[in-house]
Amino acid sequence: MNTARALSANLASLLRREHSALGAFLVALADFDRRRAWMTLGHASLFAYLHRELRLSKAAAQYRKVAAELIEEVPAVGEALGEGRLCLTSIVEAARVVTAQNWETVLPRFFGLSRREAMEVVAELQPHPAPPTRTIVSPMRTAPSKVAAGPASALPTLPLEVGAAGPAEENCTPGSSGELTMREGRRPAAPAAAPRPAEVVPLTADLRRFHLTVSDRFLRKLQAAKDALSHARPGATEEELLEAGLDLLLEKAAKRKGLVAKPRKTPRPAKSDHIPAHVKRAVMERDGGRCQFRLPSGEICGSTHQLEFDHIEPVALGGASTVDNVRIACRRHNIISARRVFGDDWMDRYAPGKASLPAETG
Ligand SMILES: [Zn+2]
Repeated sequence: MNTARALSANLASLLRREHSALGAFLVALADFDRRRAWMTLGHASLFAYLHRELRLSKAAAQYRKVAAELIEEVPAVGEALGEGRLCLTSIVEAARVVTAQNWETVLPRFFGLSRREAMEVVAELQPHPAPPTRTIVSPMRTAPSKVAAGPASALPTLPLEVGAAGPAEENCTPGSSGELTMREGRRPAAPAAAPRPAEVVPLTADLRRFHLTVSDRFLRKLQAAKDALSHARPGATEEELLEAGLDLLLEKAAKRKGLVAKPRKTPRPAKSDHIPAHVKRAVMERDGGRCQFRLPSGEICGSTHQLEFDHIEPVALGGASTVDNVRIACRRHNIISARRVFGDDWMDRYAPGKASLPAETG
């Protein structure tokens, strides 16, 4: 634990230096651009200078160019970058709406946001004038990523498509341009092998455009569902059909977690690690359906992924299946809690890996 703390402190310090170096670089770049020094050196633009002389990939150069130009207009952007409050990737979005006049109120709204979250803020501040609500099915030849840039995205966009979506964008990582560089510079040999996650483009505060690559099998099922519901819900849109299907899934998952609508009159007596449905419901409601594991920072994990019922005092140590002794934990934290109580040796011998932990116990 102490070693992990020391390693983590070192990482935090390195990260602060990364933020600070990035901030300093961009402030200097803004000054460089203000003096048009790139022109003196014979380059056609700041972008050309960054790409050709500093050897940054096109995407990395574009991010830095946009950031430097915004810093020229709003110097506070440089500070926010240096302190790690703003991501380089979300700057591209912020630059659409932040001005010298409004930055004091608008800029803080982008603090700590990923690019996708920043896109949502932009959509709220600058809603799409006529959000397209049509469904387009276009056949794909090879790379799934081609479909994402469909004709429907009529949003005004900067010439920067790289890394607009994907797991790397989920966290605020100003240094994630490495990821972008990789996609831009060394495109994987077989792009079709790694399907991109569905792309979401915010249009207004409430509307999103959702690009999704699906199989022909999926489309046949969608048509079959349309036909099957043609009497009950004539003219249902694709969104309505898919949402109805998702509702069914969620209802099923809620039942499995004990969130059924009607509580049983006489709850079964708690036996060993069995958690009665009324306890599950109460715990689920109290914990708001989120992992309650407390992180070293003092915050709770809050994950809604792979949730399980975790006995705070384990059943093996006499813990009861009561509302007070059961909490929601994500699978990873359920396992971490168990390892803390039983120790790694015991867990490796009796519950190696994730699969052997029963879903209900902790
Ligand atoms: Zn968790």
